[in-house]
Amino acid sequence: MSRELETRCIHGGGHLGVTDSTRAVSFPIYQTATFGHVGLGQSSGYDYTREGNPTRQRLEETVSSLEGAWDTVALSSGMTAISVCFELFQPGDHIICSEDLYGGAVRLFQTVSRKNGLSVSYADTSNMEQVRAQLRPETRALYIETPSNPMMNITDLRECAALAKERGLLLIVDNTFLSPWLQNPIALGADLVLHSGSKFLSGHNDTIAGFLSSASRELAERIRLIAKTTGGMLAPFDSWLVLRGIKTLPVRMERQQESAKRIALWLSQQPQVQQVFYAGLPEHPGYEVNRTQARGAGSTLSFRTDSVETAHRILQKVKLITFAESLGGTETLITYPVTQTHADVPPTMREHLGITETLLRLSVGLEHVNDIIEDLRQAMEEQA
Ligand SMILES: *Cc1c(COP(=O)(O)O)cnc(C)c1O
Repeated sequence: MSRELETRCIHGGGHLGVTDSTRAVSFPIYQTATFGHVGLGQSSGYDYTREGNPTRQRLEETVSSLEGAWDTVALSSGMTAISVCFELFQPGDHIICSEDLYGGAVRLFQTVSRKNGLSVSYADTSNMEQVRAQLRPETRALYIETPSNPMMNITDLRECAALAKERGLLLIVDNTFLSPWLQNPIALGADLVLHSGSKFLSGHNDTIAGFLSSASRELAERIRLIAKTTGGMLAPFDSWLVLRGIKTLPVRMERQQESAKRIALWLSQQPQVQQVFYAGLPEHPGYEVNRTQARGAGSTLSFRTDSVETAHRILQKVKLITFAESLGGTETLITYPVTQTHADVPPTMREHLGITETLLRLSVGLEHVNDIIEDLRQAMEEQA
């Protein structure tokens, strides 16, 4: 059965619309902790919600179908997904990561992972020479974000997959910024795909969730055992919220992306803007690679202002746009990476990456694009 992605967003992987004997069109929320046993040694297929719950399962099957995965676990946050993934490693193992990375991931690697005896090196993964230079005998995995956060650098996933295969490494891809609607890393050779479901998948800035999708049965079994043992599974109600969000993922992302392109072009013409970072602009260094591996550049972009004062003025004067962390939702948000998402990244690393006090990140939502541009225009103006 090979239905199109839009259809699978609504009807899930295997099942059609019919879900239970009531024929409820919206999949029910099984708000229960436990399930009665049918008899001695007999189970309905569900015993206890940490291990399995129909609403969560329906969501996991949907995400597996969208990512072309063998199996997916739905977890309580994107950070839980990264943490579960890192439980695959042993003390002494070494992992090579994109240097421009979600700040929470860097914090996890510098604290918990280090305490657990893992070593993590950062490389500009848009340059395979740099990745190769970091290889060690104990290297076990490549951990990639493309586009990266917040600089929107693009990494060639096919090249990473080739290197991973050659050296027997796991290729792990954080696909949060493009979602399965625009990019499917497993089809390009990734072993594990993770998502913060708090972003495009739920899409409404109303819940926190995470996903970890495995390309093979062997990996899926290991991940599922770690997930149910450590216990960070997604609750039934939140599973339902994300299921509902995914139904409109394609239309949301298409419109948000269209607006983001227009805003990126508009920003690049403003005297107070020095540079725009968006892989949908042909002058972006990763434009061609992104085009060969993704179906778009998404709706998150960053830009550098001419001064710290301009950056601060924008953050203080936006009215329609909310000054807040996060991305991928219906509401347009503006983020200050240096004090918010990337505050825990060591300052020297931030400087090296260009995450300075003049860098702003914008997540374009579903308001009319003209209203978003007008809000940015009035916020940039010097007069009060
Ligand atoms: C938000 C985010 C995360 C963390 O996800 P949470 O759901 O906030 O825990 C991880 N990776 C990327 C790229 C993100 O944007």
